[in-house]
Amino acid sequence: EEVVLKIASGQIASSPSAVLKELIENALDAGATEVTVKIDDPFNFRVIDNGIGIPYKDLPLAVERFATSKIEKAEDLERIKTYGFRGEALHAISQVSHLQIKSRYRNENIGGKIEVKGGKVLSLSPIPFSGGTTVIVNSLFFNTPVRKKTFDGREKKRLIQTVKTFALCHPEVTFRIDAETLPATSLKERIRQLFGESIHFNYATSERVKLLFTSAFDDERKKVSYIFVNRRAVTVSEIEKLLEELRVKNYILFIDLPPQEVDVNVTPSKERVFLKDKKVLKEIEEILKSNVSLPSI
Ligand code: ADP
Ligand code: MG
Repeated sequence: EEVVLKIASGQIASSPSAVLKELIENALDAGATEVTVKIDDPFNFRVIDNGIGIPYKDLPLAVERFATSKIEKAEDLERIKTYGFRGEALHAISQVSHLQIKSRYRNENIGGKIEVKGGKVLSLSPIPFSGGTTVIVNSLFFNTPVRKKTFDGREKKRLIQTVKTFALCHPEVTFRIDAETLPATSLKERIRQLFGESIHFNYATSERVKLLFTSAFDDERKKVSYIFVNRRAVTVSEIEKLLEELRVKNYILFIDLPPQEVDVNVTPSKERVFLKDKKVLKEIEEILKSNVSLPSI
């Protein structure tokens, strides 16, 4: 009850890329070292992982509202390490799509499959399955045509960008996007995989902050600006303002903080966070002033 009350219910399935983000987070939470994303179009895609899988008896729970295997007590919200903790995503997605989950829990010798469409469980059955979890989203927004209409041909790019953003903060995981493979590697190599071999970047680091400056542009020639707090791609206006003042335009910033110092619960989409500890701002300013010669930008 208390956990439920603490949880702001949200616009989880607001866009195809928001849905894909939830599925990739689930794969990473399950300890996957390989995540494959296959995109037919913005309303039909799947995520295949080699994570721990879902026990057969828990398959119906996975699509139930507020059912999560990741926290037990309200206080746990303070120290969550997993991406997910609300148990809302699969439920929300299953309301607005034809969702199929195939999985086999490590240690179980039979897999299972559940199929839900528009919130109705269509089937649940044991199946032979090699392992890990495959989540198939079909006919996304079939029953919310107005929402569906707000997405056009550019949405596929956003889906690919969503995968690449996770790839950037999880270089230790192999990602496949349709035919492209990004093999597990170091951060340095992952950056090359994503932005090109010739990319040049500078570092500034302290204990909790790792800042990379680049002169690279992505394929749309937009600026590169990523902030990750505890491996979540986020917007932190205070930091963005600071970097702008310091005339840092292209950056990839990794910040590691104890979970209780970060307000990830601020919005349901978790994208905008607030820092409880403003010392991080000072830290960024200091490492920029002392450790690094700014590239000309
Ligand atoms: P949350 O991630 O907040 O727990 P979700 O609705 O995203 O909620 O997922 C519900 C539950 O389904 C998870 O707690 C987890 O137990 C299980 N689950 C979902 N996706 C996967 C996956 N890819 N591998 C293993 N378990 C999964
Ligand atoms: Mg989740």
